[in-house]
Amino acid sequence: MSLMYESTRTKKINRTPSESLLNGLSPDGGLFVLRDLDKIKININSLIGKNYYEIASEILKKFLDFNDEDINSCIFDAYKGKFVTDEPANLVTLKNAHILELFNGPTSAFKDFGLLMLPQLIKKALVKSSFKKDILILTATSGDTGKAALEGFKNVDRTKIIVFYPYQKVSKIQELQMLTQEGNNVGVGAIEGNFDDAQNGVKNLLTDENFIKKLDHKNIQLSSANSINIGRLAAQTVYYFYSYIKLVENNKIKMDDKINFVVPTGNFGNILSGYYGLKMGLPVNKFICASNSNNVLYDFLNTGIYNKKREFLTTISPSMDILISSNLERLLYYASNCNNEYVAQLMDELKEKGEYQVNNKIFENIKEYFAGGFADDMDTKNTIKKVFENEKYLLDPHTAVAYKIFSDYMEKHKDVLGGFETVILSTASPYKFSKDVMDVFKDVSDTNIFTIMEQLYEMTKVPIPNDLKNLANKKILHNNVIKISQMEELILDILGRIEK
Ligand SMILES: *Cc1c(COP(=O)(O)O)cnc(C)c1O
Repeated sequence: MSLMYESTRTKKINRTPSESLLNGLSPDGGLFVLRDLDKIKININSLIGKNYYEIASEILKKFLDFNDEDINSCIFDAYKGKFVTDEPANLVTLKNAHILELFNGPTSAFKDFGLLMLPQLIKKALVKSSFKKDILILTATSGDTGKAALEGFKNVDRTKIIVFYPYQKVSKIQELQMLTQEGNNVGVGAIEGNFDDAQNGVKNLLTDENFIKKLDHKNIQLSSANSINIGRLAAQTVYYFYSYIKLVENNKIKMDDKINFVVPTGNFGNILSGYYGLKMGLPVNKFICASNSNNVLYDFLNTGIYNKKREFLTTISPSMDILISSNLERLLYYASNCNNEYVAQLMDELKEKGEYQVNNKIFENIKEYFAGGFADDMDTKNTIKKVFENEKYLLDPHTAVAYKIFSDYMEKHKDVLGGFETVILSTASPYKFSKDVMDVFKDVSDTNIFTIMEQLYEMTKVPIPNDLKNLANKKILHNNVIKISQMEELILDILGRIEK
């Protein structure tokens, strides 16, 4: 059986896995999906006793048209030696829930899982499809994707990468991580706007025929590293299976028991990867979608109405400050039984009116597996403090949002959790947000972020990730602050510089 992806918005656009990896986004603006995902099953029993790399191999081969040897070398080149823990993901058990730590990679956020893998997959896909052009990756970031993508793609043959982030709307550490990025094929731009502006700007360029022609003359093809790329989703599905296997191996659950996942959510990529796991046979009771005060998804999961017409709020969990969650489109596709026309219609409504409402059938399908919650900054800070005091475990603000929502369900809607074990995905190291985390414990007067990091260490004794500590000695290599209308200009300018 040959594996083909189609656009969420029309059956008529079909691509092989390699083409989907290289294109990122479908030319009609839709996202690539596998119509028959339900039929691709993982034999979970066979994963018992396997390590992370072996599990990754079993999962990834289902999404791709690569042979086993190619898959294994991608996994090895992507992850080996890049994480401080023995295995890329690390499951920790607290009193009431398990924390799946996904922040032990080079950029201290879960984005490393998708973005260390994606360049390796693209490199192989370039060879496989005898594609002649080079690839330019354009990426919008709310803070963590940018650095992880730069780190994954730096110096990778036949690729270039340019990242856009919202100026002054990412943490100081996140900004420093990007501005000090080394590599002969990288560029960074700060735009005056918010993440949605950056994401829209990138999406528009990816489908702008004039711009595409201009790059074609330079022998360059555009692609994206945002979580709309199938390579990232596939890589993220792995740790859902991994955590399940660990729970079985550690006798926390029996094989075939269901579990819950609580996922700090922004663009809906991480949680959607879990849903892919469910479709492939992972026993899941509920996915709890955790939002901060930008609670569009919470409202959607309660009303069936997606309404982005609201104020964009800047919070202490900036990687979740998003009003348009791109990957929700893929859930709509599956929840509507692969009804491309219907998805296209909803996306048109979102574009034209800023909102849409799904029909009852689809809403019921979604609610069967998804529930939502949200926490504001005050709740988030209180949670960091309480969990540290009670369990000596230091949460980052994103994970704290998830933890708070989990506690709320434990208190008020235990039935939703169904009495099953719960895994909370921990998406970042607390040190990426040192100032806000330190603020929880005492008023921070210091302005030097590295002094604050040290203070946080003194207080908690949680080790500081080396890559973050070392930022203090790195040179600033990028300094472009631009208007949204100048994105194209900056890209051409950066290409001119990195081509030399
Ligand atoms: C990106 C990110 C999220 C949100 O993940 P999505 O896949 O966009 O839903 C949550 N937490 C952190 C720390 C992130 O970097």
